[in-house]
Amino acid sequence: TNFASLGLSAPLLQACAEAGYATPTAIQVEVIPLLLRGQDLLALAPTGSGKTAAFALPLLQRFIDRRPHAFRRVRALVLVPTRELAAQVGETFRRLGASCPRALKVAVLHGGVSVNPQMMALRGGADVVVATPGRLLDLLEKNAVRLDTVEALVLDEADRLLDLGFSAERERVLAALPPHRQNLLFSATFPPEVQALADGLLRDPARVDA
Ligand code: AMP
Repeated sequence: TNFASLGLSAPLLQACAEAGYATPTAIQVEVIPLLLRGQDLLALAPTGSGKTAAFALPLLQRFIDRRPHAFRRVRALVLVPTRELAAQVGETFRRLGASCPRALKVAVLHGGVSVNPQMMALRGGADVVVATPGRLLDLLEKNAVRLDTVEALVLDEADRLLDLGFSAERERVLAALPPHRQNLLFSATFPPEVQALADGLLRDPARVDA
């Protein structure tokens, strides 16, 4: 199986080649076609499986396929547990989105640094927001970001998100999102808390075990 047979178009195939991805990983083979169809997804996937590109590539493909709006607006929200992961996921979107027809803007929001540069980065909008929940809520309260146009929500490393307090933040984040959207949940482990989160969030999800 190669990336072209998964339904990705030329700009993304070029980005994969430039990133040094010769063949898709197992989770990419399973997940990319499902996500291109707009399905919700529950994926058991450890770090190192290629899970980031597994969700970034199909989301980017859908951005390319659907006519962009005149004004830049947030189309994908990726929630991650840590600052380090936020930086990594943001970098993957930037790299894979580099050859998209319209330049992709990715905002990376996390605590531990001043909020002002992040507020500046959000001026003029962003296509993709990668955020830790606490800082995202700060910026929502400051009206620095709008999420009512989000088409896809990704919970990355959902087990760690819950360990770090996401159950308390969950309702406030979800309240900022439109009800109709694609929802993806990735987790390395699958305790009952993750199942409960998935049950509350996902609509008829495909289940993938990488
Ligand atoms: P992740 O599981 O998303 O943290 O990815 C682990 C590493 O695998 C990252 O350094 C990616 O750049 C790399 N990677 C992702 N997909 C592929 C692929 N198809 N071929 C080679 N490397 C990949």
